[in-house]
Amino acid sequence: MEKINEVVFIEGLGYDSNIYLVGDVIIDTGTGENANYVFSEILKSGISPEDISTIVNTHCHFDHTGGNSLFSADIMIHEEDAEPLEKGDSRATAAYMFGKSTEPVKITKKLQEGDKISGFEVIHTPGHTRGGICLFDGEILISGDTVFANGGIGRMDIGGSYDDMINSLEKLQKLHAEYLLPGHGPWTDNAQQHVTMSYQMARRF
Ligand SMILES: [Zn+2]
Ligand SMILES: [Zn+2]
Repeated sequence: MEKINEVVFIEGLGYDSNIYLVGDVIIDTGTGENANYVFSEILKSGISPEDISTIVNTHCHFDHTGGNSLFSADIMIHEEDAEPLEKGDSRATAAYMFGKSTEPVKITKKLQEGDKISGFEVIHTPGHTRGGICLFDGEILISGDTVFANGGIGRMDIGGSYDDMINSLEKLQKLHAEYLLPGHGPWTDNAQQHVTMSYQMARRF
């Protein structure tokens, strides 16, 4: 558990995505397979897992959404990634790749570009999946599986598209973010440099 300004970073264990907390909002929840670790990290940050009011999923994949069931909280996801969770579509969530299945859940709110959550704005960044989002507060970019540190980008063969990815990376470059908090791997400062590197890498494909 680490803090970057007001954001709590919980490093993903095993196949889990990284998990972020902003107040009582949790952003991505990992697979749900490492509940004891996740709960103890949340407690270390000073809040109780029962107090989490809202889950924001950066996209539908199982390594981010499998843990939604650990919390009794409102569930949000971009409207274009909602259906796989609502229908329990283990193929679209890629749960089958982990030898798991996705149970249907009720989505409380389907997010759109420009929605605001605890000071963060929703930025629709398709490419890794159709309904992938990033969250940005003017400084911190929580980037899901769109961009990773050191020029990484999310794979585009499980519900994504190369053209969408290029457009999304262009969009993220215009933000001039300071901190990059990705869905996997380390967080970093100098976010703009990392986003630019990812864009340049992607354009070479
Ligand atoms: Zn992921
Ligand atoms: Zn993913």
